[in-house]
Amino acid sequence: GPTVGILALQGDVREHAKAIEDCGARAVSVRRPSELATVSGLIIPGGESTTIDKLSRIFGMREPLQEAIAAGLPVYGSCAGMIMLANDIADPATDLSGQPQQTLGGLDITVRRNAFGRQVDSFETELDFQGLAPAGTPETPLHAVFIRAPWVERVGEGVQVLAAVKAPDAAQNARIDSEVRAVAVRSQHLLATSFHPEVTGERRIHELFIRMIRGDA
Ligand code: GLN
Repeated sequence: GPTVGILALQGDVREHAKAIEDCGARAVSVRRPSELATVSGLIIPGGESTTIDKLSRIFGMREPLQEAIAAGLPVYGSCAGMIMLANDIADPATDLSGQPQQTLGGLDITVRRNAFGRQVDSFETELDFQGLAPAGTPETPLHAVFIRAPWVERVGEGVQVLAAVKAPDAAQNARIDSEVRAVAVRSQHLLATSFHPEVTGERRIHELFIRMIRGDA
């Protein structure tokens, strides 16, 4: 199978590596530009987007990552990784010197961080997810774990919504003003989920990503 890099600056790197290996592909940690150059796809794990942002600059990875995304490297971001791929953050954090956090960008979406609110820090739900079942077989729901997750507030042209949650799943959050929020999106070679398939034993998202790397999806 293909070699898939896991961006190993911060976050749940091991869980993604295990998921990739369960799918029959090879997983390698990526911390340096030379390591990035060896992979045919990259996962940006869940964790803390402000930390991943800072460390990407300290490790000299920010420009190489942006160049790889622009050059068409398939990239999958889960949770904090989704935030890193987003062109815009509705509510970016600022550091002590007042600098807003930055993303790598590439995916024309606006995300809101920790969108499901403090009272619903984490939750699990069943999602209807488009495009996971082989042709001719019915889609079955995907059990999704959300941990201080972002949601997608805006999708640009050409961004496909693969899964959404109904507002009642986050009913305690007064900010909800429409019925559904996107939690999985794809635009060409870029895939992002608000939730963490890597922590549940669910492998269909990683299988989809590997098909994207192979050019079969
Ligand atoms: N809230 C985190 C952030 O803003 C994301 C949480 C996660 O990846 N589970 O980066």
